[in-house]
Amino acid sequence: MVRVTVVGAGVVGLTCAVRLLEDGHRVDVLARDLPLETTSAVAAAVWYPYLAFPRERILDWSAASYGVFAGLADVAGTGVTMRAGTEVFRTPQEDPWWRAAVSSLDKVAPPPGYADAWTFLAPVVEMPLYLAWLAARVEELGGTITRLNLSALPTGPDVVVNASALGSRLLAEDSSVTPVRGQVVLVEQIGVERWWLQSKDPATYVIPRSHDIVVGGTEEPGDWSRTPSPATAAAILARARGLVPELAGAAVLRHRVGLRPARPSVRVERVGDVVHCYGHGGAGVTLSWGTADEVATLVGQ
Ligand SMILES: Cc1cc2nc3c(=O)[nH]c(=O)nc-3n(C[C@H](O)[C@H](O)[C@H](O)COP(=O)(O)OP(=O)(O)OC[C@H]3O[C@@H](n4cnc5c(N)ncnc54)[C@H](O)[C@@H]3O)c2cc1C
Repeated sequence: MVRVTVVGAGVVGLTCAVRLLEDGHRVDVLARDLPLETTSAVAAAVWYPYLAFPRERILDWSAASYGVFAGLADVAGTGVTMRAGTEVFRTPQEDPWWRAAVSSLDKVAPPPGYADAWTFLAPVVEMPLYLAWLAARVEELGGTITRLNLSALPTGPDVVVNASALGSRLLAEDSSVTPVRGQVVLVEQIGVERWWLQSKDPATYVIPRSHDIVVGGTEEPGDWSRTPSPATAAAILARARGLVPELAGAAVLRHRVGLRPARPSVRVERVGDVVHCYGHGGAGVTLSWGTADEVATLVGQ
């Protein structure tokens, strides 16, 4: 049994905490922002390996998470569902590089204006519910979550897991982790069951949840503003209605902005008594169980 302090209560920190508690370690989570205040709470969040590197590691981590989420979809109260959806493209496509991570992927007739499309079953993770479930799981397993704004990583007897995302610019003195701003619009649920995704030119997605639909999005490197832009929201809605016309009848509920912690490569590395786990970019949910497994291995060394 190791004493572990996890810094960060987003999806990455909480998943590491649960994984480490399940291994029998003692875990305390310290975080400036509590789970529902984090970037993670803004995530759409569909399983999709997006804006995270390098691919060979992302593939394994994404595949591991896919398996765990498929299991969690059968557990009441997690906010995880397995949903079929369609990814569309303006140009013809080969199979995606992450094909091996999903159980099946089938080409389908593209909608008007698109050159290609495929469908697959993906975990859709309703983040407010899921983060609350993860936090409750931490406490049920004997861990703690405390609000604390740190100016440096803790030192002392514990192994420290640094899951502070953009906070690693300060806490790990790592200026290679930078924000990629993402804005979304939440609209009322009007009976949409399938997710829709156009991952580029520009990225547009429609992710149905139990009581609302997340409509996105943007990818704005180096922009630190968390203020929603009305013009951006209008452009997002126009693109999304092009993809899913029935959204025209859905009332707008809220606007949200999050800052993705982008890095040239996701950092999962042990340096002395610190295990770093940050820089998950646009795929923190998608990678969360895979990177937590690796953190657990590094803590146990
Ligand atoms: C609009 C949008 C849509 C997205 N959609 C998806 C999606 O569909 N699928 C997907 O997989 N991903 C998606 N993402 C990406 C995903 O949200 C991120 O990759 C993920 O949230 C990163 O999680 P994290 O736990 O590393 O960081 P965060 O959620 O940012 O958590 C970081 C934690 O560290 C703490 N911290 C930082 N500094 C300090 C400090 N000095 N002291 C104490 N604590 C500190 C924070 O308070 C916080 O608790 C999306 C992101 C956005 C913005």
